[in-house]
Amino acid sequence: MELNGKTCTSCGFLMLDPGFCCPNCGSDHLENYKFDGNGKIHTYTVVMVGFGHLANRVPYVLSIVELKEGLKILTIIEDIDIEKVKIDQSVKYKRYEEQTGPIFMPA
Ligand SMILES: [Zn+2]
Repeated sequence: MELNGKTCTSCGFLMLDPGFCCPNCGSDHLENYKFDGNGKIHTYTVVMVGFGHLANRVPYVLSIVELKEGLKILTIIEDIDIEKVKIDQSVKYKRYEEQTGPIFMPA
């Protein structure tokens, strides 16, 4: 699976899809960009009570992952022992869920 995004041709800012205009400079000159898909856990929390479509998933790890490119994104990490999650742990992109967004797993 590839993690797709956009890069701004005016300022080089990176964003995940869907991106329609640059949040950094406002330009709408964007090009497709494929992220490497590797990153590390910047911070995380273990969610014990889920809501809506996530209710059946608990407990799960909700994390801010810092991608290799430097972008920080909010994601769920799957296939991970919730007792052993660590800051700076290496993770990689797994798949995209329509309602949830990008899902990561340990690298
Ligand atoms: Zn820009």
